[in-house]
Amino acid sequence: MPRIAYVNGRYVRHADAVVHVEDRGYQFADGVYEVCEVARGFIVDMTRHLDRLNRSLGELDIAWPMSRKALETVMREVVRRNRVMNGMVYLQVTRGVAPRDHVFPVAARPAVVITAKRIDPAVVHKRAEGGLKVITVPENRWDRVDIKSIGLLPNVLAKQKAKVAGAHEAWFIDPDGTVKEGASTNAWIVTMEGKLVTRPADHGILRGITRTTLFDVAGKLGLEIEERGFTVAEAKAAREAFITAATTVVMPIVEIDGESVANGHPGSVAMSLRQAFFDVAEKTRA
Ligand code: PLP
Repeated sequence: MPRIAYVNGRYVRHADAVVHVEDRGYQFADGVYEVCEVARGFIVDMTRHLDRLNRSLGELDIAWPMSRKALETVMREVVRRNRVMNGMVYLQVTRGVAPRDHVFPVAARPAVVITAKRIDPAVVHKRAEGGLKVITVPENRWDRVDIKSIGLLPNVLAKQKAKVAGAHEAWFIDPDGTVKEGASTNAWIVTMEGKLVTRPADHGILRGITRTTLFDVAGKLGLEIEERGFTVAEAKAAREAFITAATTVVMPIVEIDGESVANGHPGSVAMSLRQAFFDVAEKTRA
C-alpha cells in the first residue's frame, strides 16, 4: 500500500508529492507546522494543536488554508489512508507560492501539506525504558521560538551535534545558565522533594502541547509543578530529568553532557507520567 500525502487540495502518492520551487516555505522558511501523535487509532490533543496552529498563523499573518473543520477532516483522512494506528501526522502551512521577494506577496494563497507516518510504539517504549542522553549547547535561535515556525536550522544543527556526541537531544542553554528547551522537546526535572519543574512558556520556548497536557496528567497523579528556570547543574543533581514532545510523549533523561542523572536509570515519576498520558489526553478518532 503506497503512502499518501495531501498537497494543496489533492491526495497524492507520497513518492510523487511535490511543492513549487517558489513556495515561500522552501525559499524563506515562511511557514508554520504542527505534529500530532497518533496513538491506538486516535489523533492526540488535536484541539490544542490546532489552537497553537491558529496562534502561529496569526503571529505571522498567514491565513488558514481552509476552514479548521476541513483541516481536521483532511488530517483524519491522511491518517486513515495511510492506515496509521500509531505514529504521527505532520501538517505544514506556508505563505504560498509567489515570485521570490522578501515582502509578503499580495495574491499568494497559503499552501498546505499533510503527511502521516507509522511509528512502532514498542520501539519508542524500549527507548523510554533505556532512557535518553542529552548534550547542552548555547542558545543561538531567534527570540520568537514561541511560534512553531518551519525555520529550524539551529535545531537541526544542535540535534546533529547531539547525534555525533552519541546523544539523542540537545538542550539550548540561556546566557544566564538556565535550560531553555530541547531542539524538538521541552525540558523538565523532578526535584528531590518530588516536584516537577519546567521553564515558563514565555517567548523563550515553544509552548509544547505535551507540556500543557502534562499539567493535567500531573494534576491527576497529585504531582505539583513549579514553572521556573533550572540550571544544568540542578538538572544533573535532580532526582529525575525528562523531556516531552508529541511523538515521544515523556522520555526519561539518564545522562547530561556525559554525566549521569541520579542513578543513571529512568525515573519512576517520568515513567508514571508516560503511562498515564494517553488516558488524560484528548482523543479524536482518525
Ligand atoms: N520545543 C521545540 C523546539 C519543539 O520543536 C517541540 C516539538 O516539536 C517541542 C518543544 C514539544 O512540543 P509538542 O509537545 O507540542 O510536540
